[in-house]
Amino acid sequence: MNDATKWYEFRINLPVEAVDDVSAQLSGNFYGGSLALELPVNLAEESATVSPAGTAILKGYICPGTAAEDHVEAVERALWHLRQTGVPITYSVRSIAPEEWLTAWRSFFRPVCIERICVVPGWESSEDTGAPIKIAIEPGMAFGTGLHPTTQLCLLLLQQVPIAGTCCLDLGTGTGILAIAAARLGASRVLALDIDPVAVDAARQNVARNGVEGRVEVREGTLPVAEAFDLAAVNLSSSYFIESSHLLKGALRDGGLAIASGVAEERLDEVLVALAAAGFRPDRLERKDGWVAILARAG
Ligand code: SAH
Repeated sequence: MNDATKWYEFRINLPVEAVDDVSAQLSGNFYGGSLALELPVNLAEESATVSPAGTAILKGYICPGTAAEDHVEAVERALWHLRQTGVPITYSVRSIAPEEWLTAWRSFFRPVCIERICVVPGWESSEDTGAPIKIAIEPGMAFGTGLHPTTQLCLLLLQQVPIAGTCCLDLGTGTGILAIAAARLGASRVLALDIDPVAVDAARQNVARNGVEGRVEVREGTLPVAEAFDLAAVNLSSSYFIESSHLLKGALRDGGLAIASGVAEERLDEVLVALAAAGFRPDRLERKDGWVAILARAG
């Protein structure tokens, strides 16, 4: 039986030298959750040495929802295949309550810097990152800590487009991270939409925490909207763009830009076809860990 509030936690033991490969292969399965690393060393010390066992623990979280059990199976299958290729992996998986996930997640949330933007946990917001733009995020139960590669790609592209004075849309705002980034980069107005009321709550709090409530409006909902934006940041999924690119096109003024992220490398061609059919021209692609973000121009 699927319990819509349960998170799943994977605890994967593996040799330290296999961590990069294995996490790259698994990260796609933890979309909506996270994959975090626990090493038997103090990562803060450069001279840190790995324990004699040389073992790392990867922890991955799968968020609640109807597809959660499918994701659990997909991860188990991927781990099985990795074991067949000779990587000595052992793992356990268990379901955990949302509060437990929150505590676990907090212990893994570290500042992440993408060019000029550093995302820091809300409870460490006084930390000096030296970054020109610091964004403090308290994830609550919402998705969007800046750690997921698809979010990082959006943060990267947001810094590569003309944004000062623009009107922006953040579709699927999660914690509000991209809306806050757009405002901090100079957008004059940002509409942040999410269909999940929990995300809307978290986003409103984060928007206030970062002092951009004057320029960012957070609303429960989705496209279509009765406005035309200069720029849209959309970190959803390949399927969303395949099915709904026309809605995205309808939300942009002629010549407006869309950042379409959350696209899996293996579905890139399908997404590009759908974007073209809706009237977008791709401008640039950015890639990370099997994910692609497309910068596309409307009209
Ligand atoms: N923008 C954040 C969060 C992305 S996760 C980031 O880049 O990190 C996707 C978010 O989109 C979730 O909070 C989910 O509730 C929301 N969402 C999913 N489908 C949506 C849709 N069709 N319209 C609006 N929001 C949607």
